[in-house]
Amino acid sequence: MTTVISDTYPILLADEPCQNEQQYLKAQGTSPLMESLESVRWIILHCSATRADRPYPVEQLLRDHRARGFRTIGYHFYIRRDGTVTRHRRLLEVGAHCRPYNRCSIGLCYEGGLDVQGHPADTRTPEQRKALQQLLIRLHALFPAARITGHRDLPGTEPKACPCFNARREYSWIETLP
Ligand SMILES: [Zn+2]
Repeated sequence: MTTVISDTYPILLADEPCQNEQQYLKAQGTSPLMESLESVRWIILHCSATRADRPYPVEQLLRDHRARGFRTIGYHFYIRRDGTVTRHRRLLEVGAHCRPYNRCSIGLCYEGGLDVQGHPADTRTPEQRKALQQLLIRLHALFPAARITGHRDLPGTEPKACPCFNARREYSWIETLP
Protein backbone atom coordinates (compact mmCIF):
# COMPACT_ATOMS: atom_id res chain seq x y z
CA MET A 1 0.00 0.00 0.00
CA THR A 2 1.28 3.43 -0.85
CA THR A 3 1.56 5.97 1.89
CA VAL A 4 0.23 9.42 1.32
CA ILE A 5 3.10 11.80 1.74
CA SER A 6 2.69 15.37 2.76
CA ASP A 7 3.49 17.64 -0.13
CA THR A 8 6.32 19.65 1.35
CA TYR A 9 9.66 20.20 -0.33
CA PRO A 10 12.47 19.33 -0.29
CA ILE A 11 11.53 15.71 -0.78
CA LEU A 12 13.80 12.77 -1.49
CA LEU A 13 13.52 11.38 -4.97
CA ALA A 14 15.73 8.33 -5.54
CA ASP A 15 17.86 9.57 -2.64
CA GLU A 16 18.33 12.96 -4.29
CA PRO A 17 16.71 15.93 -2.59
CA CYS A 18 14.20 17.60 -4.82
CA GLN A 19 13.85 21.26 -3.89
CA ASN A 20 10.49 22.22 -5.29
CA GLU A 21 7.51 21.20 -7.35
CA GLN A 22 9.03 22.44 -10.62
CA GLN A 23 12.11 20.29 -10.10
CA TYR A 24 9.96 17.37 -9.09
CA LEU A 25 7.91 17.48 -12.29
CA LYS A 26 11.07 17.82 -14.34
CA ALA A 27 12.75 14.90 -12.55
CA GLN A 28 9.69 12.77 -13.13
CA GLY A 29 9.91 13.65 -16.80
CA THR A 30 6.18 14.14 -16.91
CA SER A 31 3.96 16.91 -18.07
CA PRO A 32 2.47 19.25 -15.49
CA LEU A 33 -0.88 18.28 -16.98
CA MET A 34 -2.99 15.21 -16.41
CA GLU A 35 -3.53 13.18 -19.55
CA SER A 36 -7.24 13.43 -20.08
CA LEU A 37 -10.58 13.98 -18.40
CA GLU A 38 -10.58 10.25 -17.62
CA SER A 39 -7.40 10.68 -15.60
CA VAL A 40 -9.39 12.35 -12.87
CA ARG A 41 -10.40 9.50 -10.55
CA TRP A 42 -10.91 11.47 -7.37
CA ILE A 43 -12.28 14.79 -6.27
CA ILE A 44 -10.54 15.27 -2.94
CA LEU A 45 -11.82 17.52 -0.18
CA HIS A 46 -9.46 19.22 2.23
CA CYS A 47 -9.65 21.81 4.97
CA SER A 48 -7.02 24.50 5.46
CA ALA A 49 -6.56 23.29 9.07
CA THR A 50 -6.83 26.84 10.31
CA ARG A 51 -8.99 28.15 13.14
CA ALA A 52 -12.50 29.14 12.17
CA ASP A 53 -12.15 32.46 14.03
CA ARG A 54 -8.96 33.42 12.19
CA PRO A 55 -9.22 34.53 8.58
CA TYR A 56 -6.93 32.65 6.24
CA PRO A 57 -7.00 34.64 3.02
CA VAL A 58 -5.86 33.46 -0.39
CA GLU A 59 -2.71 35.61 -0.18
CA GLN A 60 -1.62 33.85 3.00
CA LEU A 61 -2.40 30.43 1.56
CA LEU A 62 -0.29 31.32 -1.48
CA ARG A 63 2.62 32.44 0.69
CA ASP A 64 2.41 29.27 2.76
CA HIS A 65 2.30 27.00 -0.27
CA ARG A 66 5.18 28.81 -1.97
CA ALA A 67 7.15 28.35 1.24
CA ARG A 68 6.50 24.62 0.88
CA GLY A 69 8.05 24.67 -2.59
CA PHE A 70 4.88 24.75 -4.68
CA ARG A 71 4.63 26.79 -7.87
CA THR A 72 1.37 28.25 -6.64
CA ILE A 73 -1.47 27.16 -4.39
CA GLY A 74 -1.58 23.37 -4.47
CA TYR A 75 -5.38 23.03 -4.57
CA HIS A 76 -7.46 23.61 -7.65
CA PHE A 77 -10.12 25.46 -5.68
CA TYR A 78 -10.26 27.30 -2.37
CA ILE A 79 -13.53 28.14 -0.65
CA ARG A 80 -13.52 30.92 1.92
CA ARG A 81 -15.91 31.22 4.85
CA ASP A 82 -18.08 33.70 2.98
CA GLY A 83 -18.52 31.18 0.14
CA THR A 84 -16.10 32.86 -2.26
CA VAL A 85 -14.52 30.28 -4.56
CA THR A 86 -11.15 30.91 -6.19
CA ARG A 87 -9.43 28.68 -8.71
CA HIS A 88 -5.66 28.21 -8.51
CA ARG A 89 -4.87 25.49 -11.00
CA ARG A 90 -6.42 24.70 -14.33
CA LEU A 91 -8.69 21.67 -14.23
CA LEU A 92 -6.24 19.20 -15.71
CA GLU A 93 -3.17 20.75 -14.17
CA VAL A 94 -1.53 18.41 -11.68
CA GLY A 95 -2.14 19.72 -8.18
CA ALA A 96 0.00 19.59 -5.06
CA HIS A 97 -2.31 18.49 -2.29
CA CYS A 98 -2.23 14.75 -1.89
CA ARG A 99 0.68 12.72 -3.17
CA PRO A 100 0.54 10.14 -4.77
CA TYR A 101 -2.93 11.14 -5.99
CA ASN A 102 -1.99 14.44 -7.57
CA ARG A 103 -1.92 13.07 -11.10
CA CYS A 104 -5.41 11.67 -10.85
CA SER A 105 -7.36 14.13 -8.76
CA ILE A 106 -8.82 17.57 -8.33
CA GLY A 107 -8.19 19.16 -4.93
CA LEU A 108 -10.70 21.37 -3.14
CA CYS A 109 -10.03 23.09 0.14
CA TYR A 110 -12.34 25.00 2.46
CA GLU A 111 -11.08 27.64 4.84
CA GLY A 112 -11.21 26.32 8.41
CA GLY A 113 -11.32 22.85 9.88
CA LEU A 114 -10.25 23.81 13.42
CA ASP A 115 -12.49 25.19 16.14
CA VAL A 116 -11.54 28.18 18.30
CA GLN A 117 -9.55 25.86 20.58
CA GLY A 118 -7.62 24.56 17.60
CA HIS A 119 -9.26 21.12 17.54
CA PRO A 120 -10.38 19.46 14.30
CA ALA A 121 -14.01 20.36 13.64
CA ASP A 122 -16.44 20.77 10.79
CA THR A 123 -16.45 24.55 10.72
CA ARG A 124 -18.11 25.01 7.33
CA THR A 125 -20.44 27.96 7.15
CA PRO A 126 -23.78 27.74 5.29
CA GLU A 127 -22.13 29.79 2.50
CA GLN A 128 -19.26 27.33 2.25
CA ARG A 129 -21.62 24.35 2.19
CA LYS A 130 -23.62 25.91 -0.60
CA ALA A 131 -20.55 26.80 -2.66
CA LEU A 132 -18.98 23.39 -2.07
CA GLN A 133 -22.08 21.54 -3.18
CA GLN A 134 -22.48 23.64 -6.32
CA LEU A 135 -18.83 23.17 -7.21
CA LEU A 136 -18.98 19.40 -6.64
CA ILE A 137 -22.04 19.09 -8.87
CA ARG A 138 -20.27 21.01 -11.63
CA LEU A 139 -17.07 19.00 -11.27
CA HIS A 140 -18.90 15.72 -11.21
CA ALA A 141 -20.61 16.64 -14.47
CA LEU A 142 -17.17 17.17 -16.00
CA PHE A 143 -15.60 14.09 -14.43
CA PRO A 144 -18.44 11.57 -14.13
CA ALA A 145 -16.11 8.70 -13.22
CA ALA A 146 -14.46 10.56 -10.37
CA ARG A 147 -15.31 9.68 -6.78
CA ILE A 148 -15.84 12.39 -4.22
CA THR A 149 -13.77 11.69 -1.15
CA GLY A 150 -12.27 13.29 1.91
CA HIS A 151 -8.50 13.44 2.19
CA ARG A 152 -8.60 11.16 5.24
CA ASP A 153 -10.56 8.47 3.37
CA LEU A 154 -7.97 7.81 0.69
CA PRO A 155 -6.21 4.46 0.85
CA GLY A 156 -2.81 4.83 2.45
CA THR A 157 -3.56 8.07 4.24
CA GLU A 158 -1.93 8.29 7.63
CA PRO A 159 -4.41 8.94 10.44
CA LYS A 160 -5.49 12.53 10.13
CA ALA A 161 -8.67 14.51 10.37
CA CYS A 162 -8.77 16.43 7.08
CA PRO A 163 -11.36 17.54 5.97
CA CYS A 164 -12.99 17.08 9.41
CA PHE A 165 -16.31 15.72 8.13
CA ASN A 166 -17.53 12.60 6.38
CA ALA A 167 -17.33 13.58 2.72
CA ARG A 168 -18.61 10.24 1.40
CA ARG A 169 -21.68 10.33 3.59
CA GLU A 170 -22.44 13.89 2.66
CA TYR A 171 -21.68 13.99 -1.05
CA SER A 172 -21.70 10.51 -2.59
CA TRP A 173 -25.28 11.17 -3.82
CA ILE A 174 -23.78 13.60 -6.32
CA GLU A 175 -22.11 10.65 -8.05
CA THR A 176 -25.52 9.21 -8.86
CA LEU A 177 -26.74 12.35 -10.64
CA PRO A 178 -27.46 11.74 -14.31
ZN1 LIG B 1 -6.05 17.49 3.35
